Amino acid sequence: MSSPEQAIHVILDQSICIGAGNCVRMAPGAFVFDKDRQIADVGDLSAAEFERVSLAERSCPTGAIYIE
Ligand code: SF4
Repeated sequence: MSSPEQAIHVILDQSICIGAGNCVRMAPGAFVFDKDRQIADVGDLSAAEFERVSLAERSCPTGAIYIE
């Protein structure tokens, strides 16, 4: 049986990510920060509760995160 967390699909549009880091602070592990490029990426979604991933989506200042 799959949980809602496993069913979600998250897209992070790196072309509009400004590296503010909100997502990484809200849901560490689910989002990871690339220090070299100064942008974030989707990590292991199972590392954070869905509510934290959802909060990260809402906290992104550029709307770069989409939960499907
Ligand atoms: S919150 Fe948005 S702008 Fe900030 S690092 Fe994450 S994806 Fe990039």
